[in-house]
Amino acid sequence: MKDSSDLDIEAIRAKYRAEREKRLRADGIHQFVEIKGRYAHYLDDPYLEVTPREPLTDEVTVAMIGAGLAGLVVGARLVQEGITDVRLIDKASDVGGTWYWNRYPGAQCDVESYVYLPLLEETGYIPTEKYVHAPEIVEHCRRIANQFGLYDNACLSTEVTAVDWDAEASRWIIRTNRDDAIRARYLIMGTGPLHRPKLPGIPGIESFAGRSFHTSRWDYDYTGGDVLGGLDKLLDKRVGIIGTGATSVQCVPHLARACKRLFVFERTPSTIDVRNNRPTDPEWVESLEPGWQARRVENFTAMSHGGPATEDLVDDAWTDIISRLLDEIQAGADLSPAELGALMERLNVVKMNELRARVDELVRDPATAAALKPWYALFCKRPCFHDEYLQAFNDPAVELVDTDGKGVERITENSVVVGGVEYAVDCLIYATGFEVGTAYTRRAGYDLTGRDGRTLSAYWADGMRSLHGMHVHGFPNMFIVGATQGGLTANYPHLVEECAKQLTYIIGRALEEGVREVEATEEAVSAWVAMFEGSMYGTGFGGPVECTPGYFNAEGQSSGALSVYPQGPLAFFSLMENWRNAGAHEGLKFRW
Ligand code: NDP
Repeated sequence: MKDSSDLDIEAIRAKYRAEREKRLRADGIHQFVEIKGRYAHYLDDPYLEVTPREPLTDEVTVAMIGAGLAGLVVGARLVQEGITDVRLIDKASDVGGTWYWNRYPGAQCDVESYVYLPLLEETGYIPTEKYVHAPEIVEHCRRIANQFGLYDNACLSTEVTAVDWDAEASRWIIRTNRDDAIRARYLIMGTGPLHRPKLPGIPGIESFAGRSFHTSRWDYDYTGGDVLGGLDKLLDKRVGIIGTGATSVQCVPHLARACKRLFVFERTPSTIDVRNNRPTDPEWVESLEPGWQARRVENFTAMSHGGPATEDLVDDAWTDIISRLLDEIQAGADLSPAELGALMERLNVVKMNELRARVDELVRDPATAAALKPWYALFCKRPCFHDEYLQAFNDPAVELVDTDGKGVERITENSVVVGGVEYAVDCLIYATGFEVGTAYTRRAGYDLTGRDGRTLSAYWADGMRSLHGMHVHGFPNMFIVGATQGGLTANYPHLVEECAKQLTYIIGRALEEGVREVEATEEAVSAWVAMFEGSMYGTGFGGPVECTPGYFNAEGQSSGALSVYPQGPLAFFSLMENWRNAGAHEGLKFRW
């Protein structure tokens, strides 16, 4: 590691604080426009295919809402346990979840494919690259669905409209826009954490008369090309893209190559570390021993969330900082928590200085380079990785429009206004992300009515209340797969696998014992929720400096927007394993 003894940590903290304050807004997460009413067309599915079928009123053992990675992994694990009567329900026309929707040009696995793509050993598949592109991920999702028979019973192109508990029969009734009333003994919600697109609340947004779309509903009719690029219809177009998060970072290089003129409207720059993608090494594949994927997945989670680990199997920009920490700790003596905190903060600053220096190395214009430098602690925002994004700003057709933390000022009929300057565009692309922290039922688009007629929206009016992030009091036989109040991982499929173990165990046991209802007690929920009070993920990895606003911290306002198990994901997964091994199903009530 570079010598860091001359770092002025106080000065860096002050700079981070000033940049954060510049971006804080009183309206927090309410600054965004909910996509409904006049904006509803931004949700239209450009890929929708509806095969006519009769409405269903049958009964299944398990209904899973969501046919993304959660639905596929939990579904596959249930099938492996002999529970084959599983129905995936999704408004999309195919499986894949986020990978069904996010087909923007350049979409690619951001976490190493060998740990991100689930069930590799079970399906006998090895990804072709360290970070595969979206079509290969979708193909793998289909592979899982085919191998585990999940298509057979699936209801795709089917939007859930209401979910009600039938107390007399102890069954869930799932109603849909296809007039279904499906009955399910168990209901699993696998609807994903970043599911509902959002628009920025920029004055005048409704007046734009050119073509506009959200990145999760890419309009290839207009742009030409496909997820791999080649946007040949943009050659004579002036295009604006609002947002510079992980999505924008992946699609900007393709837009830069294609557009006559591209304006990238930036509020906060992302950290752009090296990608260093490469084809899979056949010799490495030969060397793999059974159980390799679970070991690698666990190692990645340890190396991206602070250990414990003694080696770095993935060895990429996600794991770099913990790798350095391990080197330092191994080189030094035992450290007190305070010393460890100071070391983490110093390493974080060193890393961020390197990332800022990378901008200077790759971007020729000094003013553009300055505007692309992120001033916050690493992991305050989702880190990004790309080997062509920063270079795209050297193209004379591309202009970075820095809003200095304030965001776009105004949108007119044919332009985007920043600092009083009008940037005329034919097409406006919203790379403005997804709702986080808004009501669960608003994001889902329907409510759940549990025992005694109580709705989930009412029970969670003051925030989520769960046991282990999975069980909700008053909602028997209903389980949630997600990170909130559970274990957040940079590698989401790892969390999904661990939830699958837990749910397969609980459902398997309940079926074996002829249990009619499984429900969390209110006491257990209260105790679990109390643990998260005041804890927040994303408050400055390795340092006391507060983070710049973003969806990790409810735009800098709330504690608990992303409340996750404070000791980290691996500790949470161990807790679940011990819970299963104890066999007492503590916190749950089984009713016969
Ligand atoms: P993000 O929420 O990360 O980014 C939204 C962007 O819009 C930010 O740059 C934000 O700026 C900007 N923005 C919002 N409002 C305004 C405004 N009024 N004026 C100007 N800019 C504005 O969304 P993404 O879709 O990029 O990413 C969401 C998540 O999806 C990622 O964090 C990641 O978890 C996941 N993802 C994963 C990928 C993978 O390969 N695995 C690839 C892509 C995404 P500001 O930062 O200032 O708020």
